[in-house]
Amino acid sequence: QAIFRSNLSHLLELVGSGKESLVFMKKRTKRLTVQWALAAQRLERKLGGVRRDQKQILVHIGFLTEESGDVFSPRVLKGGPLGEMVQWADILAALYVLGHSLRITVSLKELQSNLGVPPGRGNCPLTVPLPFDLIYTDYHGLTQMKQHMGLSFKKYRCRIRVIDTFGTEPAYNHEEYATLHGYRTNWGYWNLNPKQFMTMFPHTPDNSFMGFVSEELNETEKQLIKRNKASNMAVVYGKEPSIWKLQGQEKFLSTLNKYMEIHGTVFYETQRPPEVPAFVKNHGLLPQPEFQQLLRKAKLFIGFGFPYEGPAPLEAIANGCIFLQSRFSPPHSSLNHEFFRGKPTSREVFSQHPYAENFIGKPHVWTVDYNNSEEFEAAIKVIMRTQVDPYLPYEYTCEGMLERIHAYIQHQDFCVAPGPSPLGSRGPQSPFVLAPNATHLEWARNASVVPGTWPPSYSLRAWLAEAGKTCTDACLDRGLVCEPSFFPFLNSQDAFQKLQVPCDSTESEMNHLYPAFAQPGQECYLQKEPLLFSCAGASTKYRRLCPCRDFRKGQVALCQACL
Ligand code: UDP
Repeated sequence: QAIFRSNLSHLLELVGSGKESLVFMKKRTKRLTVQWALAAQRLERKLGGVRRDQKQILVHIGFLTEESGDVFSPRVLKGGPLGEMVQWADILAALYVLGHSLRITVSLKELQSNLGVPPGRGNCPLTVPLPFDLIYTDYHGLTQMKQHMGLSFKKYRCRIRVIDTFGTEPAYNHEEYATLHGYRTNWGYWNLNPKQFMTMFPHTPDNSFMGFVSEELNETEKQLIKRNKASNMAVVYGKEPSIWKLQGQEKFLSTLNKYMEIHGTVFYETQRPPEVPAFVKNHGLLPQPEFQQLLRKAKLFIGFGFPYEGPAPLEAIANGCIFLQSRFSPPHSSLNHEFFRGKPTSREVFSQHPYAENFIGKPHVWTVDYNNSEEFEAAIKVIMRTQVDPYLPYEYTCEGMLERIHAYIQHQDFCVAPGPSPLGSRGPQSPFVLAPNATHLEWARNASVVPGTWPPSYSLRAWLAEAGKTCTDACLDRGLVCEPSFFPFLNSQDAFQKLQVPCDSTESEMNHLYPAFAQPGQECYLQKEPLLFSCAGASTKYRRLCPCRDFRKGQVALCQACL
């Protein structure tokens, strides 16, 4: 039985020391202790005494191991990326607060000894059964485990969860398919269940959304912040000097400077970085709590296109800033931008921070075309006059993250082999019906729930998407979210029939866009390979059959009845 914990001092010992990255993570966890403890209390009340098994969990942070180069640790104090460390610190805290038993490793040696591999004896099956129910790691750690677990890797990989910032779409994950169809990347293809990849933001619903947390303010703090805002103070997003050289930046900065005092937190050793104009007040890289203080005073947090999708804009919005960012047109993707090249995703990124744009939006987030100087200038003027409350989406609060990870641990099991059909002995007749308005399929009221499915099968709603649409977008357009675990229910002739799709013939093939209907030829296609069920992906040739579900407000990972 897992018991909620509110004292994190033992966790701080478990994390170890000796690296700047670990120091950063521990400071963060320590600072957030009170928030985690409060969140644990609230969630405990909400769950009302539901039984939770204590899991044995190994957390192997691969990118921090010397064996993978550990390029991050030496840059913690020098403006290098911190988002990953923020996320790992929060994952550790969440697992610990939920009451699970944790082992944490940041070197190959520790990994081997915890797995039961004698040092130096790579690539042999484990001599003892794996002593962990769950392993959280990253792509680097995955490679190390494969090298050192031999044949046992295949046996146990269903217990692994991969923390994967930008996400991995099914087409890139399936070895044979990726190789045949040009979806091979440097990150490899692991044939995992795509839900085993856990992302920093809710990118593709094919993966699980892990996230991180941002500090939450109480009412008194919120009021205080609102009173003390300097309406003419802007902070620029980015710690590295290079972001100040992005194209056109000078022009935007001098426009902004007409209206506001501009602050930066750009790392420098001894001299002011030459990239940062003289009129900018540069504080140097700040410790996290001081950075928060700066955000509390500022009115505007402004992004110039890089870094992509980090934690800082959420922190800024949580501290009452308005986040102004540029729209990307055309969108950035692995096809046209160096940063995304070779990443296992086809996602098109329409602004620096799509989550801020799509899940938060105005008045907190303004996404404008920076090439249009009138639009840019007008936005600044309005922002200076606009009053906003500090805002943090529930899914980025400590309670929201605990709730989500609890639900995953309780319900996600990738070790059970899927049966021949999730509908079992019901045969080809599926338990859903055409909705009264004839636009989509719903679970029939009198049909029983399919045991063992999560989210519960009755939250399924299925549409035939417009040609050229991804299932991700087709569901979003209807205020729902694509739910890949429901694809197996839809993957039948019966589903097409009930939706009154005129299939002349039906084929079963391997294609990440299937099940789908091809208009020319009136052909229906079913999916042959369950690993290829994918919310992502579109082609103008197909109208895809898409499984959607509802979601909780502020917690897109969970359906209404999902806890
Ligand atoms: N941050 C900081 N000091 C600063 C600026 C930022 O500690 O001067 C922190 C910030 O609180 C955030 C983290 O850096 O949690 C990562 O922010 P960012 O969005 O820049 O993502 P990154 O590119 O570092 O992954």
